[in-house]
Amino acid sequence: MLNKYLYKIDRENSFSKQKRLINEYKDGHPNADIIHLGIGDVSKPICEPIREAMKKAVDDLASMDSFVGYGHYYGIESLRKTILKNDYENFNFSIDEVFVGCGTKTDSTSILELFDSNAKVLISNPTYPIYLNGALSESRDVYFCEVDKEFKMIVPKEKYDVIYICSPCNPVGNAYTSDELKKWIDYANINKSIIIYDNVYKGFVESENIPKSIYEIEGSRTCAIEMRSYSKDASFSSVRCSYFILPKEIDKDAITLWKERTLTRFNGPSYISQKGAEASYLPEAQEIIKKNLLDYKENSKYLKEELTKLGYEVIGGVDAPYLWVKTKDGRDSWQEFMFYLEKFEIVVVPGAIFGTNGNSNVRISGLGSLENSKRAIERMKKYYEKNL
Ligand code: PLP
Repeated sequence: MLNKYLYKIDRENSFSKQKRLINEYKDGHPNADIIHLGIGDVSKPICEPIREAMKKAVDDLASMDSFVGYGHYYGIESLRKTILKNDYENFNFSIDEVFVGCGTKTDSTSILELFDSNAKVLISNPTYPIYLNGALSESRDVYFCEVDKEFKMIVPKEKYDVIYICSPCNPVGNAYTSDELKKWIDYANINKSIIIYDNVYKGFVESENIPKSIYEIEGSRTCAIEMRSYSKDASFSSVRCSYFILPKEIDKDAITLWKERTLTRFNGPSYISQKGAEASYLPEAQEIIKKNLLDYKENSKYLKEELTKLGYEVIGGVDAPYLWVKTKDGRDSWQEFMFYLEKFEIVVVPGAIFGTNGNSNVRISGLGSLENSKRAIERMKKYYEKNL
């Protein structure tokens, strides 16, 4: 008897379909010089201080004097302390409230195991697809929130138990302001709901009215679990390391229950990745990480400016690396994806992959190189010069 919820995962609007279409195009055009402008992965390598720390961690494991084995279910103590000191210095969280994981992709799904199986899960449409597919894998009932013109979720009248907020947002590329988040926090506290605040793009925030952490906002400790990852800033997308804060104020039993659950289901991320994550806070690592983030931001800014000049309607790209670009001439997002591929040999992500409300947009990303973005824009300019 298979899990019937897994049949609900949308295979039609998926990254696998996008990949198949790209491969079909390549088969028909063996000399194609395709530029990937949609990617959600980073393009900067891991920096030297982190590499050194991970090499040292390998050496630690190779000697019985420094060997580390089982027992660090919630993350190694030194990393959890480093997180508190660097990321939450004035917030007064205790080490018991920090849980280290193998990436926010898994953390954001597995956290559902803290909640009753009947908990009603609310997500945005469009959404980071993992919230939906992860919740379905956990056999949960998922509901879609209405969104406004900027694709931000509108606080509902009905009660939902677990609410995913992605800010800065993948795929839309904008972020919730403190005032907007305050409305969700008030809603959550009144309804005893929990907000899963996916903050993996916090390194990209530059606007003053966007909080770096949800805990900057009053009332959030009783209702919000903030998740962060080392994937985007420290380039850990294959190393795997993340963490989240589970405030004790959420529920008097939450930490105890989550510890029980984690002890049973998880042995913690690899010691090597955790030592790498710890090294990402070193000043010499931070210098490189900040520079990398600035490069991505410069790239996003360039793409936004140039696409706007070419007559595209673009949201995002300031506090997040993504641009949410409206399709032209009434094409739906898959047609627009094919249009970019066939006319410019550029790959973008069809918005339909992120939900039905995404079907008039494509996602373009600043996480690639500026050089590639410039080549892509040149192609588009040439096309429009000829075809206007
Ligand atoms: N959350 C969001 C919103 C993302 O866009 C991504 C990756 O693209 C992740 C989580 C995955 O993060 P991790 O690599 O830590 O699993």
